[in-house]
Amino acid sequence: MNRTLSHWTALAAGLSLRTQAFVAGRFRPACEGRTFATLNPATGEHLAYVAACTAADVDLAVAAARRSFEGGVWSRCDPAERRRVLTRLADLIVASTDELALLESLDMGKLVRDAATLDVPAAAEVFRWYGEACDKLNGEVIRAGEGALAMIDREPVGVVGAVVPWNFPLKMAAWKCAPALAAGNSVILKPAEQSPLTALRLAELAAEAGIPDGVFSVLPGLGHEAGQAIGLHDGIDCVAFTGSTEVGKKFLGYASVSNMKRVWLECGGKSANLVFSATRDLDRAATFAAQGIFFNQGEVCSATSRLFVQQDIAEAFIARLLAKVDAYRPGNPLDPASGMGAMVSEEQTARVMGFIALGRESAQLACGGERVLTETGGCFIAPTVFTGVDPASRLAREEIFGPVLAVATFADEAEAIRLANDSIYGLGASVWTDDLSQAHRVARRLHAGSVSVNTVDMVDVRTPFGGVKQSGSGRDLSLHAFDKYTDLKTTWISL
Ligand code: NAD
Repeated sequence: MNRTLSHWTALAAGLSLRTQAFVAGRFRPACEGRTFATLNPATGEHLAYVAACTAADVDLAVAAARRSFEGGVWSRCDPAERRRVLTRLADLIVASTDELALLESLDMGKLVRDAATLDVPAAAEVFRWYGEACDKLNGEVIRAGEGALAMIDREPVGVVGAVVPWNFPLKMAAWKCAPALAAGNSVILKPAEQSPLTALRLAELAAEAGIPDGVFSVLPGLGHEAGQAIGLHDGIDCVAFTGSTEVGKKFLGYASVSNMKRVWLECGGKSANLVFSATRDLDRAATFAAQGIFFNQGEVCSATSRLFVQQDIAEAFIARLLAKVDAYRPGNPLDPASGMGAMVSEEQTARVMGFIALGRESAQLACGGERVLTETGGCFIAPTVFTGVDPASRLAREEIFGPVLAVATFADEAEAIRLANDSIYGLGASVWTDDLSQAHRVARRLHAGSVSVNTVDMVDVRTPFGGVKQSGSGRDLSLHAFDKYTDLKTTWISL
């Protein structure tokens, strides 16, 4: 795809935005009639006022979801029908690529180029993959002897609440909704207040694809209102959450004071990237080290935000890394020549700049460190690298969620493993080495849901994604995602 700035600008001028909640098959204002503003963080301009849903809207959506679930129109239909609908939805997403990519970029600042070539195709692929899986999951028949027939089957859990963040709005929605819908559940999606637009367009496409009324609702709203009401609702059987560790812990609390709903959490991260001196292609490793932190403005839960380099190659490696940074120069997210987009909001920009100020006091600033392009009215931060970072400092320990890389060195394998594991998080980790035994040894010892060797942050629909420790529980993607959205049912028949 070779789209120009003028193509995207012209398309943006004619874009129509969905701003109301989608409940029981139709768009409607929030029950209390309130709205919230969504901004374009690349310009500071208002994009739209969007329905601010509250507990009353959650009640309506749950009632519609429950009706559809108990009625069986989706939950008990032939799985081959769910396959046809979900793969049709994948086709509709592909056909709407430019529009969805543009909505994503305008709403949260990411490069439209990335949204069009990565986010939107990935969301479509996830719907297609789970759609295809619908009619290929079978139950088990157990050898129970002559006198009995014992069967184990998977049943949908019922009504699923999906609460997602702003960094990959459409993709995160797909990661939750596709397997939950494929399993036969009714789903209520709450997008982040910073980025509601693609979720609302997805609702429309889902209806067009044939998802029955009530089976899929989208409730835009604020976290402490719509999000909390989903967490506390007795009519919701399961919540799948992606977001911060702080809010993830709240969902555990909501479940404990309501109906003990299942809570699956994909939370924060501070992934380590270990570069050993046995790495032959240091230039390739440097290219990936830069991508691992600067892609999507560093607003990636599994960003490799801690780089540990073996002492004897540190100087050479850091020089190569700094040579890669220029490719991530921020610019207009609609301009295919820009290297990085805008931060999602003023609030997030201020938070990241606060960490940069801390870094200036405790480490060496090797590049960046500034807010840039302020004349645009947008939220842009230069790609920033700190070296000599103390592993005990906040820069090394806390999730920054911005384009800020903390670099430190290690003497040997044991120290590398100790530094990497010294974190409250355990989402991803990367290892660079051409010593096969070392790669296996280190990968086994790392406390992380995913370890990428000689690449960074490898994510694929066929393999599970999720974390250990305070990065959360449960896994998105792969057939294992069905574990979250189904219950095992035993049927024992005495013959
Ligand atoms: P956030 O936790 O602030 O918000 C996530 C969602 O929770 C939003 O929809 C928000 O409206 C809602 N929410 C906020 N407060 C709430 C409350 N009190 N009760 C109920 N719901 C509430 O996270 P964010 O700022 O949108 O996203 C950034 C965070 O998400 C980072 O910590 C990042 O690591 C994490 N993240 C994790 C993954 C993963 O797969 N592990 C992926 C992407 C992002």
